[in-house]
Amino acid sequence: MTHQCGAAAALLEPVPMPDPFDLTAGWIEQHLLIPLLYQLGWMRWEDLSYGWALFAVYGAVQVAVTYAVCLPLERWRPLEHWPDRHAVGVDVLYTIISRVGVLPLVTFVAFYQAQVALNGWMTDQGWVPPTLEGLFPFLLGHPVLTFCLYAAILDCADYWRHRLSHMFRWWYALHSLHHAQRQMTFWSDDRNHILDDLIAFFWFLAIGLLIGIPPMQFPLLVLVLRFIESLSHANTRLSFGWLGDRLVISPRFHRWHHGIRAAGRRSCNYGGVLPWWDMLFGSADFSDSYAPTGDPGAGEAMATGSYLSQQWAGLRRLAGLHGGDARAAMASRRAGVTAISGRAPGRGGKRMV
Ligand SMILES: [Zn+2]
Ligand SMILES: [Zn+2]
Repeated sequence: MTHQCGAAAALLEPVPMPDPFDLTAGWIEQHLLIPLLYQLGWMRWEDLSYGWALFAVYGAVQVAVTYAVCLPLERWRPLEHWPDRHAVGVDVLYTIISRVGVLPLVTFVAFYQAQVALNGWMTDQGWVPPTLEGLFPFLLGHPVLTFCLYAAILDCADYWRHRLSHMFRWWYALHSLHHAQRQMTFWSDDRNHILDDLIAFFWFLAIGLLIGIPPMQFPLLVLVLRFIESLSHANTRLSFGWLGDRLVISPRFHRWHHGIRAAGRRSCNYGGVLPWWDMLFGSADFSDSYAPTGDPGAGEAMATGSYLSQQWAGLRRLAGLHGGDARAAMASRRAGVTAISGRAPGRGGKRMV
């Protein structure tokens, strides 16, 4: 009788559901990564291969979720229509390379390695590795609040990285690839020069190490922030209202940063997720119109070329071999550009130079 009861209880116990992310990452690790690492003689990376695979799966799901949210928005209230969408296709390639390949590798594998090395070195010196909880003990036992603070700090650091990339001529030569897109859609967030991305990764890694973000949280934070950044590039007539636009960056707010008149060394709306840094440091423009996007100084190869020719054009601009059409850039700025909505650009906010 007791045995029967035990068997019945076992049947009633909930069977743990297999986690689809876990299963997919396990499959990728077993069938792709480990054989590849073995072939290359890189078996010392085996311990990290599951983590990389897991965040690559998260990255792929994030691309799918971004697509599912942003595409209906772009179809519902489109700002611009283009008969030839070839330039958008190149942005899709940028997104897949970045979100599924590079971001998991950098935000998990590189960050994990760097944190282990830094913490080991600090412990050897008799120092305590830095953490946000160490700095603000009231955060202990409040993981959600700590996660939000990590996000806000990373976002503020990204604001300054982005603002500086407009201030230095050599840095803007690379960043202008992001601004060259005249067909801006939610795919355009990852359209960056590889050297510009490299600087951004080091910047993020340094901040992440400085505030002691746990290695499993760092890639998740980047995923969440990048989702909102993708949305802010969408080709849609969308703002979050007076208050909403001051809480989270909307497509209308970020579009002003991509406006033709804003391209170059003095721009506005540098923020990625929170508009607070632009408000705090005097670079916010809450104009209620929508500007056409692009950078007339970037040249045609950067705007409509293939992935490789865009990267090459960025290097040429960096080396000063191709300054772009500077006269066209000046003329377009002097003349001003009619906003898509037909309203005067800069209305209701700080005017761009
Ligand atoms: Zn920019
Ligand atoms: Zn952008």
